[in-house]
Amino acid sequence: MPPKDPHRQMEKLRKQVLGCRECPLHQQRNMAVFGEGPYESQIMVIGEGPGAKEDELGRPFVGRAGRLLDEMLEEQDLSRDRNVFIANIVKCRPPKNRVPHKKEIETCFPYLEEQISLVDPSFMILLGATAMKAYWGSLKEKVGDVRGRWITEGHRHIMPTYHPAAVFRNRSYRQYIEEDLKTIAGKYRELVGG
Ligand code: SF4
Repeated sequence: MPPKDPHRQMEKLRKQVLGCRECPLHQQRNMAVFGEGPYESQIMVIGEGPGAKEDELGRPFVGRAGRLLDEMLEEQDLSRDRNVFIANIVKCRPPKNRVPHKKEIETCFPYLEEQISLVDPSFMILLGATAMKAYWGSLKEKVGDVRGRWITEGHRHIMPTYHPAAVFRNRSYRQYIEEDLKTIAGKYRELVGG
């Protein structure tokens, strides 16, 4: 059998997501948001779902919270242009930015699982409670209880932290996210060198 080509598989998956109508969220979307960043990134950031700007442009984290995320990643010399792949739990915008329903998450989750399998990152950052709970279905803790801690699954190091949108409700969260990104960046550099 010929070796798998992750780029080709990712492009195939992208097309599938852009045309997906598997859950009711497709009904009001403008564009599905697949995710972006180099496919060989060692770091993957996972958020909840697209907002209005993301739905309009078909790109993840491009609104106010996205700009803040980019800024905080850049402080650690990380970016979606170079070394971070960004995706969401659900690929279509829930109406009025509500939290996606359990069934919608379950229906969309296999796309994320395939993205994780193709990117195969060594580090994953779960932004906010929805991402954290969708990834670990049974987790009861709040983000504040587990942020800043590594959870290791095989070769992968996973860290939950606050969603950047939380900073607009409480500015002190920025410091926590920055601390967590610094920890992640430090471990990442240990791995890749530099
Ligand atoms: S949210 Fe996911 S499962 Fe639902 S329509 Fe969009 S891509 Fe398909």
